[in-house]
Amino acid sequence: MAKKDFKDYICRPYCMFFKEGQKEEMTCKGAQIAELLFHRKRVNLEKTPNFASDPRIWKNQQAKLEKYVCHKCSFQAEDCDFQSSAPADDMKPCGGFILLACLLESNLIDESALETIE
Ligand code: SF4
Repeated sequence: MAKKDFKDYICRPYCMFFKEGQKEEMTCKGAQIAELLFHRKRVNLEKTPNFASDPRIWKNQQAKLEKYVCHKCSFQAEDCDFQSSAPADDMKPCGGFILLACLLESNLIDESALETIE
């Protein structure tokens, strides 16, 4: 990713799990897919607006994102509280999930962009 790295577009603004200065050994699938879509020029993260973190948006897009993102995420089975069987009402998804939900909701990407990712 040019100039900034993906943390500046995905983790820092949207992810409640991101900790400044902490070296992440793995990233969630949501962040990986958002970065891949940027590299494939399916979306320009340098030009997207700062989206509000609104639960209605990620609930609207949850079924699609579970299918194309969470089911492929190595955090889903054990580490992801949002995808646990009984998440707290105020539990948020990771920043990648939130950003992808906002991009879908704003029609900056569509489902076909997610379908192309293995
Ligand atoms: S919400 Fe959880 S399972 Fe889904 S991509 Fe994010 S970390 Fe992975």
